Amino acid sequence: MRSWAVMLLVFSLVVPSLSYGADEAPLVGYSSRNSQTERKWEAKFRGMPDPANLREYMGRLSARPHHVGSPYDKDNAEWILAHFKEWGLDAHIERFDVLFPTPKVRVVEMVAPTKFSAKLEEPALAIDPTSNQKSEQLPTYNAYSIDGDVTAPLVFVNYGLPEDYEKLDRLGISVKGAIVIAKYYQSWRGVKPKVAAEHGAIGCLIYSEPKDDGYSVDNVFPQGPMRPADGVQRGSVMDFASANPGDPLTPGWGAIEGAKRLPIKEAKSITKIPVMPISYGDAQPLLAALAGPMAPEEWRGSLPIPYHVGPGPAKVHLKVEFNWDIKPVYDVIAKIPGSVAPDEWIVRGNHHDAWVNGAEDPISAQVALLEEARSLGQLVKQGWKPRRTIIYCAWDGEEPMLLGSTEWAEQHAAELQQHAAVYINTDGNDRGLLNMGGSHSLEQFINGVARDIEDPETKMTVWKREQLSRIAKAKTAEERQELRQRADLRIEALGSGTDFTAYLDHLGIATLDLGFEGEDEQGIYHSIYDDFYWYTHFSDTNFVFGRALAQTVGTSVMRLADAEVLPFDFVDFADTVDMYKKELQKLLAAKQEEVRERNQELEEGVFAATFDPRRPTVAPAKEEMPPHLNFAPLENAVELLTRSAKHYQQALAKKQMSMGDAAGGLGPEKLAAVNRELMTTERRLTNEDGLPRRSWYKHLLYAPGVYSGYGVKTVPGVREGIEQKRWAEADAEIVRVAKALEDEAGVIEAAARELE
Ligand SMILES: [Zn+2]
Repeated sequence: MRSWAVMLLVFSLVVPSLSYGADEAPLVGYSSRNSQTERKWEAKFRGMPDPANLREYMGRLSARPHHVGSPYDKDNAEWILAHFKEWGLDAHIERFDVLFPTPKVRVVEMVAPTKFSAKLEEPALAIDPTSNQKSEQLPTYNAYSIDGDVTAPLVFVNYGLPEDYEKLDRLGISVKGAIVIAKYYQSWRGVKPKVAAEHGAIGCLIYSEPKDDGYSVDNVFPQGPMRPADGVQRGSVMDFASANPGDPLTPGWGAIEGAKRLPIKEAKSITKIPVMPISYGDAQPLLAALAGPMAPEEWRGSLPIPYHVGPGPAKVHLKVEFNWDIKPVYDVIAKIPGSVAPDEWIVRGNHHDAWVNGAEDPISAQVALLEEARSLGQLVKQGWKPRRTIIYCAWDGEEPMLLGSTEWAEQHAAELQQHAAVYINTDGNDRGLLNMGGSHSLEQFINGVARDIEDPETKMTVWKREQLSRIAKAKTAEERQELRQRADLRIEALGSGTDFTAYLDHLGIATLDLGFEGEDEQGIYHSIYDDFYWYTHFSDTNFVFGRALAQTVGTSVMRLADAEVLPFDFVDFADTVDMYKKELQKLLAAKQEEVRERNQELEEGVFAATFDPRRPTVAPAKEEMPPHLNFAPLENAVELLTRSAKHYQQALAKKQMSMGDAAGGLGPEKLAAVNRELMTTERRLTNEDGLPRRSWYKHLLYAPGVYSGYGVKTVPGVREGIEQKRWAEADAEIVRVAKALEDEAGVIEAAARELE
């Protein structure tokens, strides 16, 4: 089936005016007759999204700051609602009331050895017309930092990750009682204060290092796209990965009017120590005033100073106080009812709120969502009747931490678990390659869609461009061979940091996350300079990638909504799980080897031999050897899964040749039964008890890492068990994951038999 798809693609590129003939292979999950009809509607759809509209929507939605609780946030929601309605969708606004702190007091100053007060202010630029909307802009801050007033010596901690603190240990430096200063990136920003607090720090500064998104990359704004000296990255520091995203006062249920709310002091996701983000303009004097050992080479940035670690003599006073207010968020929800299977839902979302004007984040992809909705509305007027129900969602409150999407998911959890087949997310769009992430049961599906979308720059398909780009970047011959021979490009497993989190990780709904990226550098993230002027000078300036995104996601929505049998595939899925299993075995072996080697070096006296009395270091402690774990249950489950996946693929292929014919076709009841089973396949990968110590996260294969945040941990119970040396827990998690995979194999097998 996959190679057919490739041939179809070549055919359609060479002779674009020809429509798909009756003798061509049908789309996966479609009878040949319906496949032809679908192809025609999809082709019509892809001609509709218009860059001029995308530009106009962006101009409107990013015209003023529109963070949670601001007048323009509500205004935008109402504008989106009016347009959904105008386009013929059945739309309404759902409001939730959530805890959203805004700053009251912000002080960052050096009190010794010299005095310096941080500006904490991004200047308006004459050339950038929205940068001067000062009265409506949120000041620079990190949302869900706890209130605090601390004065202490400063310590530079690189990116503030656990391994950075191991390095500090080796340097003999403790952060106990100190304020740390960490660089942005390499993890969810909320991980930095979390790890700092776990090591005894009492305050945390996070700064934008010019080596990462400033002048080391390209010219700074407004001459170029990068962060200027006073530019600051706002952002949430909520500890969502070890607790839950969404409103901290209503974990697990919808924050509707009258809902039960926890007292603030019981909210688990608020930081333990005060946090402030600062620019590199403000960071430089602080870092320059540090003494102590030189920072390890890979920690150093590109400020014109020697990077020392401290502690001190720089002593910093950090004071923050917030208005802990309940604010409304407005989700705009629009529906196109299904004609045959209205109880099977395809849900598509992108947020509309921003930290400030947010042209890139999130409006660049919100405008694609709107163009999809307008175009689908047109198709309905022309007679297109989607088989399943389509739900378009413009989320509010994503930036503080997925508030609108999480509250909606929690409020409608029971219906969603019963009806939702797939959730598709986007969040921002730039020039470049199609980034495909999601549930691996949709890997084959999204590869198929990508083969039908034209890249605006090269005119090859976005799939082909991605494949060739991966070949260019591949590091080994094996990687290149797989890229050339495997039918589908591997898609990324999803971590978090955007609105799919509640749908995939909490409810177990098969998910895709899509967007174009990679050709434009940017240093305006979460600053006042992420605006229409920046986007139309430095990103997808003619909105052709915006159109490509609307074409990609809209085609996905249609193809999922119209298929007789939901186009899930489990062969790629089983292949991926098998890969994870091997990774885990390698991870354990690597840990064992690491400990064995280190212990041997300690015995040999390697650390004593390399000791430099002028640059003293501390030898690591001797460690106990990691035990062997029993992977047998996982081995057996993966084998079962692989067998059932192949069986299902064969059964579907056989059925597809005859589907729609009177003799071989499946009756409506059979179809409904198969689809019901398919809809539960992602749910089977969840467990009601959730992951160890974070029960909101139910998915056993995908979760944001407790110490990475955005970054995914696949098979998180086992992987984090090994990483955090919880050996008994890792062993127990293997059994739990294996059990879920066996259930999964069972339901795939049942669906296959249903087809036969
Ligand atoms: Zn966003």
